[in-house]
Amino acid sequence: MTRPGSTEYDYDVVISGASLAGSAAAILLARRGVRVALLERRSDPAAHKVLCTHSIQACAHPVLDELGLLPDLEEAGAVRNEGRWYTRWGWIEPRAAPEGPALPYAYNVRRSTLDPMIRAHAAATAGVDLLLGHQVTGLLAEGGRTSGVRASTPQGEREIRARLVVGADGKDSAVAKSAGMPERRYANGRFGYLAQFRDLPLHGGFGHTWFLEPDMAYAFPNEDGVTVVAVLPDKKRLPPFREDLEGSFLAFVRALPEAPPIDSAERISKIIGTVDYPLHSRKPIAPGVALIGDAALTSDPLWGVGCGWALQSAQWLAEAVAPAATGRGDLDRSLAAYARTHRRRLAGHQFLAADYATARPFNPLERLMFSAAARDAAVARHMYRYASRLIGPARFLNPAALAKASGVNLRHRWAGAPDPQVSRTGS
Ligand SMILES: Cc1cc2nc3c(=O)[nH]c(=O)nc-3n(C[C@H](O)[C@H](O)[C@H](O)COP(=O)(O)OP(=O)(O)OC[C@H]3O[C@@H](n4cnc5c(N)ncnc54)[C@H](O)[C@@H]3O)c2cc1C
Repeated sequence: MTRPGSTEYDYDVVISGASLAGSAAAILLARRGVRVALLERRSDPAAHKVLCTHSIQACAHPVLDELGLLPDLEEAGAVRNEGRWYTRWGWIEPRAAPEGPALPYAYNVRRSTLDPMIRAHAAATAGVDLLLGHQVTGLLAEGGRTSGVRASTPQGEREIRARLVVGADGKDSAVAKSAGMPERRYANGRFGYLAQFRDLPLHGGFGHTWFLEPDMAYAFPNEDGVTVVAVLPDKKRLPPFREDLEGSFLAFVRALPEAPPIDSAERISKIIGTVDYPLHSRKPIAPGVALIGDAALTSDPLWGVGCGWALQSAQWLAEAVAPAATGRGDLDRSLAAYARTHRRRLAGHQFLAADYATARPFNPLERLMFSAAARDAAVARHMYRYASRLIGPARFLNPAALAKASGVNLRHRWAGAPDPQVSRTGS
C-alpha cells in the first residue's frame, strides 16, 4: 500500500495502547475496512487498569452496543448504574418518570472484566493484529508528518509504518510526547483512595456518591457482588490522612451519611490511590497523528467519565477518519473533523471539571441545581442526564432549566422548609 511520497505502509493505522480507547478504535476502524496494528506494551492479554472505580456512564451505551459488548457485559453480571447522590439538601435520587421512558444507563463493571473482554473482541476482529509486549518508544516521520512508530518488542526493536498513528496510550501518552503535541494542565485539589469489598449492602442496591463540599466519596456495586468504595478528600487533609492510611480510609467511610457497613463486609483488595492527579487536555491531532481517550483528555476521576469518553472518542475518530485512513480521502481534513467533534463534545465538560477540581465548595449555580434536584424528580432526571454526559453544560444550565430549579426552590422556601448548612463529622 503506497501513498504519494512513496512511503510503503505495513498497516493503514497503528494504535499505541490496547485498553478501552485503543481496543474500541481498532474494532470500529477494522469493521470499516481499515488494516490496524494494535500495540500494547503489556504482554498479558488479561492486563487491566487497576486505578479506576469503573463506573461507565450512560453516554457510552451506544458505543458498547456498536462494539457488540452488551450481551457479554450482561452475562458477566455488569451492574446497570442507577445511583443516588448525597448533598447537604438531602439525597438526589434520579428515577424514571411514571409512565416515562427508562433512564438511560451503562454499567459498573470491574476493569479486570472489561479490559480483557474488549481486548479479546479486538483480537478477534478481522483486520486487527493485536501485538502484545510492543511498547511504542518513538515515531517515524517523513515529509513533515508522522508515518509510523518505533517499538520495543520481545524480539527487539521494530519499526511499523502506517498512514495514521493513534495514541491511545493513556494520560502519559508516549505518542503525544514524541509528537510534541501541546498540552494544558489543571491542578487537582483532591487526592483519592479506593478499595474493593465483597457483600457490602447498599441502600436499594444503588451506587452512592457523596458530595461533601469539598470532599467526595463513592460506593459502586459491580459484578460478582464486589463493591468499590472510594474517597476523594481535599488535599489539605492529606498529611494526617497518610499517617494512618488504612485507619483514615475506614474512618472516613464510617462517618459518611448512611455509611455503607464496611465493618461487616469483606475487604478483598489493598487500599490504593493517588495523591496527585492533574487534569489535562491535549490538542488531539497533528499531521499523521490522532489522540483518543486519556491521551487526548484526562479529566477529574471525581466525575467517573474517562472510560465513557475513551470509548466515545474512539467512535468519533473511526467515524471521521476510516475512509481516509485507507487512502480514499483527505486524511488531514478527516482529522480536523475529529478534532472539532472532540472539542464540541468535551471541552465544556472539561472546563467545568477543571474548575471544580480546585476543591472549592459549590458555587451559586451548583447550589441552585443540586438543591432543586434533591427536591424535585424532574430536576433530578435533568441532572442525571448531565452527570451521565448525555447532555453538555449548555443544555444542563439552559435558561428553562435554571428557571425550573429556581421555581422549585422558591416553592420549597414558601413551604417554610429550613435551608440546611453543610454538616458532616470531620468536615
Ligand atoms: C482513581 C481513578 C478512578 C477512576 N474512576 C473512573 C470511573 O469510575 N469511571 C470512568 O469512566 N473513569 C474513571 N477513571 C478514568 C479512567 O480510568 C480512564 O479515563 C480510562 O482508563 C482511559 O482509558 P484509555 O484507554 O484512554 O487509557 P488507559 O486505560 O490508561 O490505557 C492505556 C493503555 O496504553 C498502554 N500503553 C501505555 N503506554 C504505551 C506505549 N508506549 N506503548 C504501547 N502501549 C502503551 C497501557 O498499558 C494501557 O493498556 C478513573 C481514574 C482514576 C485515576
